[in-house]
Amino acid sequence: MSSTVAAKHVVIFGRPGSGKSSLAERLGADFGYSLVRTGELLREAVRHGDDLGKRVEGLLRSGNLAPDELIFELLDEKLNTPHVEKLLFDGFPRTMGQVPQLKELENRQHFAIDTYLDVTVGHDAAVARMTGRRICPSCGATYHLLAKPPVTPGICDLDGTKLEQRRDDSPAVIEQRQRVYEQHAGPILAHYQAIYPTLFKIVDGEQSVDDVYLETKRVLALSSSW
Ligand code: AMP
Repeated sequence: MSSTVAAKHVVIFGRPGSGKSSLAERLGADFGYSLVRTGELLREAVRHGDDLGKRVEGLLRSGNLAPDELIFELLDEKLNTPHVEKLLFDGFPRTMGQVPQLKELENRQHFAIDTYLDVTVGHDAAVARMTGRRICPSCGATYHLLAKPPVTPGICDLDGTKLEQRRDDSPAVIEQRQRVYEQHAGPILAHYQAIYPTLFKIVDGEQSVDDVYLETKRVLALSSSW
């Protein structure tokens, strides 16, 4: 029997277009992780059209980041449930300011991240992927015209809603999001690699979707029986 323990609470990093959100969804469906996606929490706020949504709509459209305090507020509210079994963070922390916020959430909500996973993809491959991305405006499920098409073209497999291209997936915004990522990610990844060298893992995200998934399962020590 292997002595390796399956990953319980995971943070997944990767540039926009790395495929990390689809990967997170698949891990959630197959292994029961609760997905904590700050981008989705922000888009949900925009869909509600309340004050908060109006404040963040412009930021999302421009490809720039939402303020750290707002992200913390949203996460603290989202995680405030009695049983936090298996968490998979997608899109957080995204600035060095959010690194201590994660620590504070771990302390307040009684969980501990045991794996920091970086899905590496180059700029050009990521941009090419983002142009084919489609999203369900109702449930947030993500698709790709080539890599992960819905069963019926243009329609969400899960709830039948017409799929859309995200507003922040336009060419100018895609480039801005890459710039924002390149500006912030280096120090965050270096930080976790330095303080948690054994918890920090890298997966080559330029492989096929299935190979990325296989390697991720191996790195997280997930078997189908878990
Ligand atoms: P995502 O769906 O993770 O690609 O996020 C979409 C957009 O939401 C980003 O381009 C940012 O504008 C915003 N966003 C998501 N997560 C964060 C975060 N942790 N901090 C600041 N802004 C964020």
